[in-house]
Amino acid sequence: MLIQENEEYIVVKANKIDEKYIYYQCPYCFKINNGRILDSPYCKKTKRYCKSAVQNTHKHGSGGDLFGRIEQRVSHCKINHKKEVKIIIDETTIGCLKEK
Ligand SMILES: [Zn+2]
Repeated sequence: MLIQENEEYIVVKANKIDEKYIYYQCPYCFKINNGRILDSPYCKKTKRYCKSAVQNTHKHGSGGDLFGRIEQRVSHCKINHKKEVKIIIDETTIGCLKEK
């Protein structure tokens, strides 16, 4: 989920965290059923909404740390790869642990 956006970075909320990865939905790219990544859910050829398009999920290593924090990373996005991403991990993130 996109929280904030400026010239240099975006701020997103992670939807899930586990021992290996932090997952967030990218506001810039969409995945269609043949695995292709598009920059919008609309098909340029047919000018119609692509029914199988879903917001693509990017994952970054969690380092096994499941507690709430903000992680700053270089984006893996092929569509908007120049911006850094700040990933908020909080109590709304699936798998996030509360501070003791
Ligand atoms: Zn992306």
